[in-house]
Amino acid sequence: MANQRMLGFVHTAQRMPDKRPATERRQDFAEIYARFSDERANEQANRCSQCGVPFCQVHCPVSNNIPDWLKLTSEGRLEEAYEVSQATNNFPEICGRICPQDRLCEGNCVIEQSTHGAVTIGSVEKYINDTAWDQGWVKPRTPSRELGVSVGVIGAGPAGLAAAEELRAKGYEVHVYDRYDRMGGLLVYGIPGFKLEKSVVERRVKLLADAGVVYHPNFEVGRDASLPELRRKHVAVLVATGVYKARDIKAPGSGLGNIVAALDYLTTSNKVSLGDTVEAYENGSLNAAGKHVVVLGGGDTAMDCVRTAIRQGAVSVKCLYRRDRKNMPGSQREVAHAEEEGVEFIWQAAPEGFTGDSVVTGVRAVRIHLGVADATGRQTPQVIEGSEFTVQADLVIKALGFEPEDLPNAFDEPELKVTRWGTLLVDHRTKMTNMDGVFAAGDIVRGASLVVWAIRDGRDAAEGIHAYARAKAETPVAVAAE
Ligand SMILES: Cc1cc2nc3c(=O)[nH]c(=O)nc-3n(C[C@H](O)[C@H](O)[C@H](O)COP(=O)(O)OP(=O)(O)OC[C@H]3O[C@@H](n4cnc5c(N)ncnc54)[C@H](O)[C@@H]3O)c2cc1C
Ligand code: SF4
Repeated sequence: MANQRMLGFVHTAQRMPDKRPATERRQDFAEIYARFSDERANEQANRCSQCGVPFCQVHCPVSNNIPDWLKLTSEGRLEEAYEVSQATNNFPEICGRICPQDRLCEGNCVIEQSTHGAVTIGSVEKYINDTAWDQGWVKPRTPSRELGVSVGVIGAGPAGLAAAEELRAKGYEVHVYDRYDRMGGLLVYGIPGFKLEKSVVERRVKLLADAGVVYHPNFEVGRDASLPELRRKHVAVLVATGVYKARDIKAPGSGLGNIVAALDYLTTSNKVSLGDTVEAYENGSLNAAGKHVVVLGGGDTAMDCVRTAIRQGAVSVKCLYRRDRKNMPGSQREVAHAEEEGVEFIWQAAPEGFTGDSVVTGVRAVRIHLGVADATGRQTPQVIEGSEFTVQADLVIKALGFEPEDLPNAFDEPELKVTRWGTLLVDHRTKMTNMDGVFAAGDIVRGASLVVWAIRDGRDAAEGIHAYARAKAETPVAVAAE
């Protein structure tokens, strides 16, 4: 029953509360991420009605040809299904694992709309592509001819890597610079391993290296080179640096020990799972084991924090969010997973301060009433007078969202134009910024978004760069000057 429920065979309304201890329930979650059997993949693929307007495809950011690869899977033609699947997506088995399908392809499946539960598109995508890796069908995309022109990519997240793979396949010499020691961006240091195994990211990173992409780890642009220096070295530069400035809370007691930023907590957990020794984990400051944990925020990062804390052996895990369940930004599926694992949600509650002497002991909070909708259509949170309460906490994790860093300053390129939110301004047709030959893609353009959108942007930016470099090559003087 539990497996069937997780695989989407049972409609949500039929879900029964799972009374088993959290440790046992977690084993079921491991099973969802385990391989589909051939029969299950076939059964799900067969459920596709091959409808005239494929709403799933329309709502997939990379426009995956979902009906075609479902049909091929249902006919047992898996290698062809793989060919179709990888034609539009550089990291299909990653998207199959971590796309919020309930908001994208599966949420728009007509079978879902008819209340019979969507075809589990993401799981089939994962199945097809994991099979392709097992069978040795996935090969490095080496170019048929070298163009003798190099492109620099700043940032090895999904946007930078998707662009790098596309450009390398076209024949460019591609150099990827990243300030981290490992390539993958948030795929490796943000998203927890229970959602996306690190080996799955590593094999993709290696595949690109095998195709000839050159990595420069521990290379921070702004410290180890400026943007003008990289522009002199490469015909074009792609900025795909993501957004990393964490939103903070200023309230009495916010400087106490054990109040930490979500990404510090998750990065540490990911490093430890990769075998690194991290002092802050060893000394307990970034480790939830044996603690009462409170996570502030209601997005997907908050969900990753609560679920990581459960796995680290926290005594209790609570999530404080100022709006209600239906208004939270995170995926409803993630919330359901967290609840089933034992996380307690305190809806319509906002932190006002923290108690403790040197280290936090509690979060002081107030209840929130959701008032009339503002201009954006969202109800305005209003504090309910006299509703103060305190939640016990030995570790508070702030998951309040991310903003872009000040790139023009950091990159020593004051002319680089940004929007009023600090994201890079690009021409959306070409992905070029206001600086000649400098392109941008992923979260640094959209603000905090999704892996699949970063892939889409990276692919589009590669096309923009290719068109730009070709135009330059047709102007011999300009090319010679590079
Ligand atoms: C905790 C968490 C969980 C998430 N879970 C999901 C999920 O389940 N599903 C989903 O679709 N999306 C998820 N997201 C969002 C998703 O990870 C991002 O939208 C996506 O990774 C953005 O890709 P990117 O390539 O633009 O940037 P990133 O993945 O952030 O990569 C940017 C890279 O640039 C490097 N960099 C930055 N500045 C410099 C510099 N000056 N010099 C050199 N290198 C630099 C960074 O080190 C990093 O490696 C999650 C995000 C977070 C934070
Ligand atoms: S890439 Fe994401 S949205 Fe597109 S089909 Fe796959 S899981 Fe669905």
